[in-house]
Amino acid sequence: MVLDLSEIATLKFEKPINDKASTKESCKTGYEWKIVWRNVIIFAYIHLAALFGLYVLFFRAKYQSAIWFTVVGVAGGLGITAGAHRLWAHRSYKAKWPLRFILMIFQTIAFQDDIYQWVRDHRVHHKFTDTDADPYNVRRGFFFSHIGWLLVRKHPDVADKGAIVDCSDLKQDPIVIFQKKWYLNLMWLCCFIIPTLVPWLAWNESLSYSWHCAVCRYCINLNITWLVNSAAHMWGMKPYEKSFSSTNNATVSLLTFGEGWHNYHHVFPWDYKAAELGNYRLNFTTAFIDFCAYLGLAYDLKTVPADTIKKRASRSGETYEQ
Ligand SMILES: [Zn+2]
Ligand SMILES: [Zn+2]
Repeated sequence: MVLDLSEIATLKFEKPINDKASTKESCKTGYEWKIVWRNVIIFAYIHLAALFGLYVLFFRAKYQSAIWFTVVGVAGGLGITAGAHRLWAHRSYKAKWPLRFILMIFQTIAFQDDIYQWVRDHRVHHKFTDTDADPYNVRRGFFFSHIGWLLVRKHPDVADKGAIVDCSDLKQDPIVIFQKKWYLNLMWLCCFIIPTLVPWLAWNESLSYSWHCAVCRYCINLNITWLVNSAAHMWGMKPYEKSFSSTNNATVSLLTFGEGWHNYHHVFPWDYKAAELGNYRLNFTTAFIDFCAYLGLAYDLKTVPADTIKKRASRSGETYEQ
């Protein structure tokens, strides 16, 4: 579950390489999956415990617990979407330190590796989409791009080609470095211990119920995030670049607070909305960032001019009947 990409060195975030020749080549090399059984056991436990947690949440737990774990889930979701993804991976807006600190805590709640590793994986994904260097390469199927990539050893290309992805900007951010240094302690506190103890201490919830609800909340957050790598690279529309596997998928957008406009996002990754649409359509993350900008905590929000989007759509997008 904890990805070891420490061997990856650094370089600038550049435009994607959609290297079909390299994909074909890699198929020939006959890369075989080496299963990491420790991760298989951990994820099997998480999913089984989450099923029980779901039952508890609906039929056994106190209503305060349901509210609490929803709040924790929304915080974890925003930590990934507004934090790790739009702020740190794509630098699509800037944030003052109090917001960066809150987003760091939220991202720790999500427990999807520390910000540094998450961002490095994600930049490799954008740069080498659909090749063996893509950590969640959708050409290996739904299961691999959803969760399978966390259950097997990485393809050597992830490290080799990933070595040209720059993450030096992250080393300048003391909040990212602080989280990286204390990640294991922070993760246990933010993802499991505090979420479990609050219902037990504050409204006398059963400790076992609370633990299973906490695991359930974590598992739901994980699967929702993974849908961007799997479903939003398989099913949906391609209005901006038909040669990309990434799609615009409204269901994924709804679940991920706006990260499912993924065909658009792979074409214009620097847009803080991660979508072409205004008015917050299925995009709670954009509303959150705009609210932070209103409070003066977020600034330099980057967007793409409407005519640039239009030109790109007519040049390389799939056309749809109105
Ligand atoms: Zn993608
Ligand atoms: Zn992205």
